[in-house]
Amino acid sequence: MNSLQDYMSGSIRNIMTAAYRNVLSNPHEAKFAFRMQQTFIKSEKRRKTIMDKEGLDVPPFLICSIATQCNLHCKGCYARSNGIANDMNDSTKPTLSAEQWLSIFSEAADLGVNFALLAGGEPMTRRDVLEAAAKVDKMIFPVFTNGTLIGPQYIEFLRKNFNIVPIISIEGSAEGTDERRGKGIYQRAMLSMDMLQNEKLFFGTSITVTTENFRNVTSAEFLDGLQAKGCKLVFYVEYVPTEPCTEHLAFGDDEVAEMEELVEAARNRHEGVIFLSFPGDEKSVGGCLASGRGFFHIGPDGSAEPCPFSPFSDSNVLTLGVKGALQSPLFRKLRDMHAFGWGHTGGCTLFEHREEVEALLK
Ligand code: SF4
Repeated sequence: MNSLQDYMSGSIRNIMTAAYRNVLSNPHEAKFAFRMQQTFIKSEKRRKTIMDKEGLDVPPFLICSIATQCNLHCKGCYARSNGIANDMNDSTKPTLSAEQWLSIFSEAADLGVNFALLAGGEPMTRRDVLEAAAKVDKMIFPVFTNGTLIGPQYIEFLRKNFNIVPIISIEGSAEGTDERRGKGIYQRAMLSMDMLQNEKLFFGTSITVTTENFRNVTSAEFLDGLQAKGCKLVFYVEYVPTEPCTEHLAFGDDEVAEMEELVEAARNRHEGVIFLSFPGDEKSVGGCLASGRGFFHIGPDGSAEPCPFSPFSDSNVLTLGVKGALQSPLFRKLRDMHAFGWGHTGGCTLFEHREEVEALLK
């Protein structure tokens, strides 16, 4: 097992231990969390065996954009700007069926993948794919949702499927969220949190951190509010300046260092909450985790891409499978070039070096 696999597997063990501690108030969820801890120990061994026998690094994470529709029009939406997300009445974009996603998730589980982060567009517009994911009981599926489609039907579904975990996206404050996502969206997201809390269901929130909001969204007051809502996981995503003239919102080295300290302080202050940040302390693992080092992205049509912020592909998991895509020429070149060590400002190495990545396809 190499140091990167050690680091990733160690982080997952810590996440699952914290998750187990956090759901003891719900005996059904506690039983589920305990079972997943055992399952993840087996998949860790599976990844090690594949590395030892085939020299192939199986990442414990996947990011899957399962939906091409969204009911919101958030300012600066990356998924809309790169053509992944469209309006609800627009089904022109090619998407995979629930059966196709089921075979992808099942193969990933057999390879030892632990988590598939489901995104889009709005992933809750694909109830069929979420039902397929729920059947893959060796994996956990964090669903990055705008929270506006969570109602009694989804609550009923989530009560029966603990491996489907809602991660509700907000921008921090009510003003900041409504300013970007639309009037009333913050309140709607809070209502969804209330519904999940009433059912004692494990859920989290995802916050895009910028130079303007990061001190507020790591503050005790802000996190006390989220914890009181029953939020058990906070996922900080560093802003990637995909919109022109927004580079000032992206972190520089000073903000990255300060954010690490603030997150560590939050961890010590809010014991009942799991804190994850993306890309976070990638330096400690030699750089970005894209291209299969820690994860890779599967687009709505099955295309295998290094990362959602690096939408370049020379392979499709429908034809090659997850294992085949991991060995794609593009991924191998990026790994062999140590592209993950390239310098960058802001949350994404490969986004900043998009010309170099695209050139590798030629
Ligand atoms: S909810 Fe997500 S996909 Fe939809 S517009 Fe907002 S950022 Fe884009």
